[in-house]
Amino acid sequence: MHVFLPNKHTLHHPKQDYSDGIPPFKHLEVPERVNAVLQGIKSATDVDLVTVNELAINAVYNLHDRDYVDFLLAVSKILKPEQEYIPAIFRDNLLKSPLLYRAGMYCKEIGTPINKGSIEAALNSAAVAEQAASYLLTTGQDTIALCRPPGHHAGKRRYGGYCFFNNAYIAAQTLKQQCAVVDIDYHLGDGSMEFASAEIPYFSLHADPWQNYPYLDSNIILPEYAELVTIPAGIKGELYINLFKTLLAKLNDFKYVIISLGFDTLGTDHIQDEHINLKPADYYIIGQLLAQISAKRLIVLEGGYDILNLPACARYFISGFLHKHV
Ligand SMILES: [Zn+2]
Repeated sequence: MHVFLPNKHTLHHPKQDYSDGIPPFKHLEVPERVNAVLQGIKSATDVDLVTVNELAINAVYNLHDRDYVDFLLAVSKILKPEQEYIPAIFRDNLLKSPLLYRAGMYCKEIGTPINKGSIEAALNSAAVAEQAASYLLTTGQDTIALCRPPGHHAGKRRYGGYCFFNNAYIAAQTLKQQCAVVDIDYHLGDGSMEFASAEIPYFSLHADPWQNYPYLDSNIILPEYAELVTIPAGIKGELYINLFKTLLAKLNDFKYVIISLGFDTLGTDHIQDEHINLKPADYYIIGQLLAQISAKRLIVLEGGYDILNLPACARYFISGFLHKHV
């Protein structure tokens, strides 16, 4: 199986996450995540590893607003290697403000620090999605993009939730026709939801997005081409799988499906605010069901922060996907 891997993701190494107010805690979106998932995949099957060095600068400018991308690149230039940058003032129009105040126009939270190499890493992550999509398009073979940093919370001109550029919709730009994005990360991909269109609709199975990150506004108007299914808190594997089947039943008309795969639905993942009790073995059934849809599949890594159990989750998922014994 072809697995696309970012070569520059370690340039992004956030230290502190201030999301819970005080005290700050060690950031969960660590470089070790990629190796943990890769280790699990390798333990299940032979892997043709494609290491990606490129930066998807054109694809990112095509998907996101120019002033947003320009801002992220400009901030990267002025940061010193040891510095970590978070927004301090939150307003909707800071275009004429000094550069360092403008983050609060593009990000409304403090959990996604930028260090000097973060944006280069995010551009490399987008290139992983783009190249994996090209591979699928030209060969018709299912493939995996081990993107890091993740992407599904990144909107058209907005970063946050550990995401800068929307990897899944960057891949979708390459696949274009008869393509859907299906998101099974614990969290609703509020960024991906922004990109949902008649051409590339968005389907998501997630924890209640008003009670968990991304904490949607109560008066938000949900987009027409996003199909959202909320997982009740405390659910167990079997009920989760039933909900997942209802989502999969809607994918018959697509030629390509991009799966935003997060392993943070695992019961032991500390990021959960409400508890979802998936066990590593549940990912076997998830992989198996995904392998049964008629569309070709591109798997894009999103969240998943239980480093110790990530290899087992990935091993079960790929084993189910390839109909192998664990
Ligand atoms: Zn997540």
